[in-house]
Amino acid sequence: MTYELDHPEVREGVARLCANFPGRYWRDCDRTSAYPTTFVGALTKAGYLAALIPEEYGGLGLPISAGCAILEEIHRAGCNAAACHAQMYTMGTLLRHGTDAQKAAYLPRIADGSLRLQAFGVTEPTSGTDTGALRTTARLEGDTYIVNGQKIWTSRAEHSDLMILLCRTTPRDQVSKKTDGLSVLLVDMREVRGKSLTIRPIRAMMNHSSTELFFDDMPVPAANLIGEEGKGFRYILSGMNAERILIASECVGDAKWFLSKAAAYAGERRVFDRPIGQNQGIQFPLAKAYADMRAAELMLREAVRLYEAGVNPGEEANLAKLLCADASWAAADACLQTHGGFGFAEEYDIERKYRETRLYQVAPISTNLILSYIAEHVLGMPRSY
Ligand SMILES: Cc1cc2nc3c(=O)[nH]c(=O)nc-3n(C[C@H](O)[C@H](O)[C@H](O)COP(=O)(O)OP(=O)(O)OC[C@H]3O[C@@H](n4cnc5c(N)ncnc54)[C@H](O)[C@@H]3O)c2cc1C
Repeated sequence: MTYELDHPEVREGVARLCANFPGRYWRDCDRTSAYPTTFVGALTKAGYLAALIPEEYGGLGLPISAGCAILEEIHRAGCNAAACHAQMYTMGTLLRHGTDAQKAAYLPRIADGSLRLQAFGVTEPTSGTDTGALRTTARLEGDTYIVNGQKIWTSRAEHSDLMILLCRTTPRDQVSKKTDGLSVLLVDMREVRGKSLTIRPIRAMMNHSSTELFFDDMPVPAANLIGEEGKGFRYILSGMNAERILIASECVGDAKWFLSKAAAYAGERRVFDRPIGQNQGIQFPLAKAYADMRAAELMLREAVRLYEAGVNPGEEANLAKLLCADASWAAADACLQTHGGFGFAEEYDIERKYRETRLYQVAPISTNLILSYIAEHVLGMPRSY
């Protein structure tokens, strides 16, 4: 794995930072379901979480390829960016669709770390993947929206000051398309937490700080509406390609971590008086996983290239997410198998990374929905849902 990678300085800096957060740090967080506050603080201080925020707002003003390099290196080092990656793509909703006043008020403080924008409330218990069916409502009363409803799987809500919230502002029976009449609000959770906003943590397969949110007449100033009322679904959609690309980078990082762990172990572990890596039964799944990872990485690079050229790479971003998530999962499986029983022991970190990388088959977008996108939008087949 010595091929040339982009943004070498960014990668080296992230790798150096991650070296301070070895497996035992993540194991401790995992065991106690603790948020990796020190890690996120270090990334923030180094400016990496503000990589994509334009310089005029105090960020590094780097292109998405740099965001990819940062997330890939975090995962390649055995760390987990899930605690903070959302800031990179949720910030885009504000940047692309917010007013100058909103951007001036929030982006510099997000960039310097004094405000955290880590929460993204879209999924609801009853609507799931069918976003247009969401039930959380925002009713305008004077200059305030009153929000009622519920979200589920809102990750990091307890560790964020702000949340990008998608809710219905026009009743479903008054719009022709169910994705119309939805709006994006920027919620300052510090003002409503414990009052009209209740946050309940969800214990999950991996340490992801996910929560359920309950809104009970939660006030949000009308000035915090992002973009035009009723057009929120398309604002969320407009950030999807960036989200797919950034998440795919984490998968590539995971795959590289699993493969390097597995190859090293296969060389060291001796059974029947020879390294297990001498057996083709051990070699081939790892070689195949490597080939899959490299192919997926090339698709990811193509998606990044098009994105940075100003094209909307829906096909490539979806393919990259699909292929990279599959590659990381195949690498995880091959790595676990290579380690035999030791792969199940906490201290090797493999079972933890295995649980973490499994998520990408389901969230932030499930594999089935990507396949549906390709079938419908790329191959021109009928819409299935
Ligand atoms: C750890 C974690 C963190 C998350 N963080 C966030 C977050 O921060 N913010 C947020 O808004 N959401 C978050 N999510 C939610 C995530 O985006 C959803 O779980 C995901 O989009 C799937 O929705 P669902 O769980 O309701 O599954 P469902 O929609 O109930 O789907 C269940 C299964 O059916 C399949 N399916 C559904 N419809 C179709 C169809 N038409 N064709 C084929 N297959 C179909 C799906 O692919 C899936 O495999 C998170 C989820 C997890 C597990």
